[in-house]
Amino acid sequence: MIIKAAAFILCFTLGTILFATWPSPAALAPADLPEREKLLDMHCHVAGIGAGGSGAFISDELRDSWKFGIYLKAFGVTEEELLQHGDALVVQRISEQLEQSQQVGRAVLLALDGVIDANGDLDRERTETYIPNEFLAAEVARYSNLYFGASVNPYRHDALARLEQAKADGAVLIKWLPAIQHIDPADPRLTPFYDKLVELDLPLLTHAGDEHSFTMADNSLGDPQKLHLALQRGVTVIVAHAATSGTTVGEDNMERLLPMFAQYPNLYTDISSLTQVNKLRFLPRLLAAGVDPQHLLYGTDFPLITTGLTSPVFSSLRLHPGCTLELIKAENPWDQDVQTKLAHGVDPAIFANAHTLLIK
Ligand SMILES: [Zn+2]
Repeated sequence: MIIKAAAFILCFTLGTILFATWPSPAALAPADLPEREKLLDMHCHVAGIGAGGSGAFISDELRDSWKFGIYLKAFGVTEEELLQHGDALVVQRISEQLEQSQQVGRAVLLALDGVIDANGDLDRERTETYIPNEFLAAEVARYSNLYFGASVNPYRHDALARLEQAKADGAVLIKWLPAIQHIDPADPRLTPFYDKLVELDLPLLTHAGDEHSFTMADNSLGDPQKLHLALQRGVTVIVAHAATSGTTVGEDNMERLLPMFAQYPNLYTDISSLTQVNKLRFLPRLLAAGVDPQHLLYGTDFPLITTGLTSPVFSSLRLHPGCTLELIKAENPWDQDVQTKLAHGVDPAIFANAHTLLIK
């Protein structure tokens, strides 16, 4: 009897605490987006296995990994389809899915350069995944709702010429994944590369924080404090997903990033992946950190939003149940992503920033 009473009191208390801490439905109703053309997602990955002569490849390790099947499914293709129609099918499927979104209408697709050897050439043995600029620029140009995000490893012997080519081919930014591409952003040898980015008015989108999407990574290169050199040279730096995850010298990487916003007006971050199950706690911290809202950009880290890892189910303890149910009903992954972020309190005004910064 005593145990039953104690259990009742405990449940009642926990229930009261839970409802008291749930924000009200009115506060969480997805806010109206500003009236304007559809939104731009500035952070979308693509994949390729070399089918159709794309020049893309993935390593045997990644192909044999359990991640390979999950990635293909997330991109909405099968290996058989790619072999039959070529890697260009991935780009086509992204364009088609975007057309179905009511709120997001355009996306920047990201090439991915590889690891570079001592001679300044592509090191295929140490490259896990490779999406060549030439392939992606040509495919993206076929769709009015896609933009080209190029990737150039600065250790290539012809890196500066590649930047010029990327600009000529319509690139709106340059993408790095330092932990995978073995790039040290603090390396003084990169100064001419940074100066060329400034000259060409090409922002640098660079992943920071730990990287778990590949089978091997040097996460020491994901320290946001390594970005001082690029910022001091005047490069517009966009730190992917606010450097969430991982620590450097015992300090949370996001905490290492946040003070830098007061120091550099040319520093931005995107809000991709921040509703992922293991990153949810970072979103309120970022929103409360006092970063100028104009320096937050909307992105999804596609195909992440199709994997289930950003399901509104994981937000259920932070949102009103009715709100969570509405979010779950959203059929298009981009629409669900936008509405989920709005429900978490992201300022509707920031959704237009990516267009302003990248497309002008
Ligand atoms: Zn990404």
